[in-house]
Amino acid sequence: MTSAKQHIYRRYFPSLNRENQQLTYLDSAASTQVPEAVLNAIQNYYQHGHGNVHRASHQFARQATNAFESARKTIAEFIGSKADNIIWTSGTTQGCNMLANGLAYSLTEGDEIWVSELEHHSNLVPWQQLAARTRATLKCIPILNNGDIDIDNFKEHFSEKCKILAISHVSNSIGALLPIPELVRHAQQYGAKVIVDGAQAIAHLDVNVERLGCDYYLFSGHKVYGPTGIGVLYGKTEALEALQPSIFGGEMISQVSCETSTWNRLPYRLEAGTPNIVGAIGLAAALKFLKQFPLKERLNHERSLLNYALKKLREHPKVELIGTPMMRVGLISFVLKGIHPQDAATLFDQYNIALRCGHHCAMPLSKKLAKQGSIRLSLGLYNTQQEIDKLIEAIDNIMELFDE
Ligand code: PMP
Repeated sequence: MTSAKQHIYRRYFPSLNRENQQLTYLDSAASTQVPEAVLNAIQNYYQHGHGNVHRASHQFARQATNAFESARKTIAEFIGSKADNIIWTSGTTQGCNMLANGLAYSLTEGDEIWVSELEHHSNLVPWQQLAARTRATLKCIPILNNGDIDIDNFKEHFSEKCKILAISHVSNSIGALLPIPELVRHAQQYGAKVIVDGAQAIAHLDVNVERLGCDYYLFSGHKVYGPTGIGVLYGKTEALEALQPSIFGGEMISQVSCETSTWNRLPYRLEAGTPNIVGAIGLAAALKFLKQFPLKERLNHERSLLNYALKKLREHPKVELIGTPMMRVGLISFVLKGIHPQDAATLFDQYNIALRCGHHCAMPLSKKLAKQGSIRLSLGLYNTQQEIDKLIEAIDNIMELFDE
């Protein structure tokens, strides 16, 4: 791909086009930069009249409600679903907690909840808590030495005791892409509900929840070029109906007396209180922004950058890759031989390269594959081949410092 073509995407991101902007931003798995279209949508919303949704009949409230519900439709279309199957959350973490709380009633002692060893803590700790509360047993699909989950182990031990499988679509530590349709088919044969944490997948794959077949799918706006504080919980209709509300208050009710209340219809039943209206509008703007580019070209751009970075890092004598999964998207973890990842990250910062180091909120995986943690490079649409070259040059310079 020519470098002119690579810059097609970059020019839409004001934070990466400031004068004297020197930062090589390789931390999109933590949060992506925001395109101008999203900034404009946020500004326009407040500038043209802000009102609370679903509550008043005045003009600003009507405008807000229309924009908010139209955003829900945009999100639904983006993932191949319907608006009523989209619940707004504040992010993936809140979504996981809503599911863990909302499904608690369906578990009893002896039931199993399954996760995997590569989960982000957001999709692990709520399930630990739920298991403790309900006396269910938490089971973990182990990972192999290359970081892929051990599918054979999963199939051998999974049974009708399992009521919930909560699993990542893409690992935030090593970029492993999990075989979700295969996991879903297997788990659903035993009657389990399947929850997919799509936080690291949504920006890098053509996510279609119907094709995946999962019962619930979660993601966060700030990892797909949208604002922070907004996220999505998708659920099949019967799966959302099976979910008990765990946050109570305005909006989610139908009738209230001093003694008791009845619930609103979906999706509102699961959205108590004033939602993040502008966040929803900003996220819809981000997804519309992505949609303007042919999907194949966008994904090819990322794939070719990823392959280029993988090749360069693999060839480097001082780099050790952490995890070599069969299928990968979005990111690569590595260590520099003989240098603690924290020291390396501090040095990268001096070269104006933004990377993340540590255990990446996935301690079980880190314990197995990289005890001291690792350095993570994660890509966004705006990255270029030159930035990967800059990273490799910085690695050379850092290694020279340590070799002296
Ligand atoms: N799951 C995965 C795979 C993630 O990468 C993250 C964010 N790093 C989360 C869940 C939590 O997302 P949030 O902080 O937006 O709630």
